[in-house]
Amino acid sequence: MKLIMLGAPGSGKGTQTSRLKSIFNIPAISTGDIFRNEIKESTELGKKIKKYLDSGQLVPDKIVIEVIRERINQPDCKNGFILDGFPRTLEQARALDEIVKIDACINLSVPKEIIVKRLSARRVCKNCGAVYNLLVLKPKVDEICDKCGGPLYQRDDDKESVIEERFRVYEKQTEPLLEYYKKRIPVITVTCNSVDAPPELITEQIVAGLKKLNLVS
Ligand code: ADP
Ligand code: ZN
Repeated sequence: MKLIMLGAPGSGKGTQTSRLKSIFNIPAISTGDIFRNEIKESTELGKKIKKYLDSGQLVPDKIVIEVIRERINQPDCKNGFILDGFPRTLEQARALDEIVKIDACINLSVPKEIIVKRLSARRVCKNCGAVYNLLVLKPKVDEICDKCGGPLYQRDDDKESVIEERFRVYEKQTEPLLEYYKKRIPVITVTCNSVDAPPELITEQIVAGLKKLNLVS
């Protein structure tokens, strides 16, 4: 089962991807996580891309496509994977078509007001990358990761000024992908209209959509 997760920044792509990953036991590939990790480790790639992430701009297609090509060609991706945060431009989508055939696309549709509230409340574990939300997915102990005890922090690009810019970039560059995929593969759209919708409800609807397409039993 080869899936793409589409949706605005803060629509819950990462949360849903990690839930589907444990349900179906297939790898989740998040370009955002890969990039943040490269930056944390101060690799050559990390140094090159830091300025894009800090300002809410997209990393150049050429770089992203190479990173994805390499990752998808790893043996653990043979039987399936979920792409979270890729593709984000038409050029990336076309390049992906050349690399592998995707079975379906999941589209998380969330109104902008809700997204801005959510992103400002998002916290991430510095140690393991687990994602929390002070509104809906609070850690058991303030500022501490439930899973590994690591400290939680707010991503620099989750500050309000950068959120606006990420949203603009999304509407201009990524939203057109929806039409691209609707013409080519099944798209499962799940809508979330409240700030405190439980993530498991969204997961249920995605799984129901996958069943309908006979991608899972
Ligand atoms: P979100 O979906 O919440 O915006 P991500 O973790 O997916 O966050 O991405 C964070 C940042 O990483 C983006 O703003 C962008 O700079 C970079 N990035 C991630 N994926 C891509 C991609 N496919 N193409 C270009 N840049 C990307
Ligand atoms: Zn952690």
